[in-house]
Amino acid sequence: MIPHDSLIDSRVRKIRECFFLTESWDGISISTDNNRLVAALREFAECDWDAGRDVKLEEQQNGTEIQRVMLHVALERVRQNGLREQGKFAYTCADAGLSNAERFMVLAEEFGEVGHELNEGLGEGRSVSLERLRTELVQVAAVCVAWCEAIDGGRVER
Ligand SMILES: [Mg+2]
Repeated sequence: MIPHDSLIDSRVRKIRECFFLTESWDGISISTDNNRLVAALREFAECDWDAGRDVKLEEQQNGTEIQRVMLHVALERVRQNGLREQGKFAYTCADAGLSNAERFMVLAEEFGEVGHELNEGLGEGRSVSLERLRTELVQVAAVCVAWCEAIDGGRVER
C-alpha cells in the first residue's frame, strides 16, 4: 500500500468511528458527538488525495471543488441535527415521523429560498449575492441528503 492510501484509510476510519461503524457502511447509526464528526469530516476534506498531505480548504485548487462542496453539505447536515437538538425545529428530513409530502415541503421551502436570492438580484443596479446563493444551494443539497438517510434507514413510507 502506498503511503497516501493509508492516510486516506485513517481519515475514513475516523469518520466511520463517528457513525459507530466497524466493517461496513450498512446500518449507520449517527453519533450525537457532532464536534467529533465535524473534525473528522474536515480532516478528510483537507487531505490532498493525490499528494498524500494536508492542504487547507482555502488553499485547495480546482480539482478539489467536489471535496469542498461535499464537506459543506456534510457540515450543513450536522448543523441541521444540532438545530433540531436545540429545539429550533421538531424534525429533520432524516427522521422518522414525517410523510413524504412533509419532507417535500421542507425541501420546497429551501428550494424557494434559492429563488428568493435570485430575485434579490433582479433589476437595474442590483446583483445576486453568490455567497448567499451558494449557502441556500448547500442547504437544498443537505435536505436531499437527509431524506436519503431516512430512505436508507427504513424511515420513509412507500
Ligand atoms: Mg435556506
